[in-house]
Amino acid sequence: MSTLTIVMYHYVRDLARSRYPGIKGLTIEAFEGQLDYVTKHYDVCSMRDVLDAARGRRPLPERACALTFDDGFLDHFSVVFPRLVARKLTASFYPPVAAVAQDTVLETHQIHLILAVAGDDGATLARRVRDLIDARGDADVPSAAALYAAHAVASRFDGPDVAFVKRVLQKGLPPRARSAIVRELYDEYVGVDPRVMARELYMDLDQLRCMVQHGMEVGGHGAEHVWLDTLSREGQEREIVRTVDFLGEVYGGRPRDWVMCYPFGAHDATTLDVVGAAGCVVGLTTRVGVARDLAQPLTLPRLDTNDLPRRGDASPAALEAQRG
Ligand SMILES: [Zn+2]
Repeated sequence: MSTLTIVMYHYVRDLARSRYPGIKGLTIEAFEGQLDYVTKHYDVCSMRDVLDAARGRRPLPERACALTFDDGFLDHFSVVFPRLVARKLTASFYPPVAAVAQDTVLETHQIHLILAVAGDDGATLARRVRDLIDARGDADVPSAAALYAAHAVASRFDGPDVAFVKRVLQKGLPPRARSAIVRELYDEYVGVDPRVMARELYMDLDQLRCMVQHGMEVGGHGAEHVWLDTLSREGQEREIVRTVDFLGEVYGGRPRDWVMCYPFGAHDATTLDVVGAAGCVVGLTTRVGVARDLAQPLTLPRLDTNDLPRRGDASPAALEAQRG
């Protein structure tokens, strides 16, 4: 191989005619365009190919590309899967164990839904979050003003207000305060029973097995979709045991080697130790980039779908710049 480009997808749906058109996702049209682009400029390979290459069994093609779909969304079964089959492509899917159980909506997705309903007005939502933080008056939580000053910094895809909301609700606040505020905002903005929403949002085990039977691949994305690097070794081990058990359920037997996609891309030395001991051979991060070799297969970079052109006739110039 000269390069391995791994593309990361989340929501792929008919956004304009969906219940939450404001959700940050890819339209079906853009997805089709991107498949045109990828098949024109790359050799699409499977994670089995990447695993075999990482173990030195068989090299990858020159311009290898792997398509990865995070979080177990039903979009992946209803929109992505039939389009991949039609083009005879293989891709890999990374559902958190708790999503597939469909008992509740994971907090990270509750935040996406809250943001989708809030729409462009991230400023109003950010003010509401600040009010809720100050109203709690937790002794172990800095003032909302201090948190805002620290976290309201624009990211690659978000303005300062949306970045602030995501950062404090995903990680910046202690877990108890975070969960309470997310639940309050979810009820206020979204207001749909989380168990009903979970069935609309996520794939179930049968759908995953069906995709596997048709050549798709399923890897690990943790159990509860947490930042693994914030957990103790024991906490990380519990997450990975549940992940491997789940893959065993999907495949009808424990996988002999498998791929881990770290939730939020978060991992530390302990994570690599724990997943390696559990038979994981390839790990996917959210570090932006293209792999030039497989010397460190447990921490491979990925590109976001937003980094790729959305039309088959687009020139790869923008991407060439990324490779530098
Ligand atoms: Zn995820």
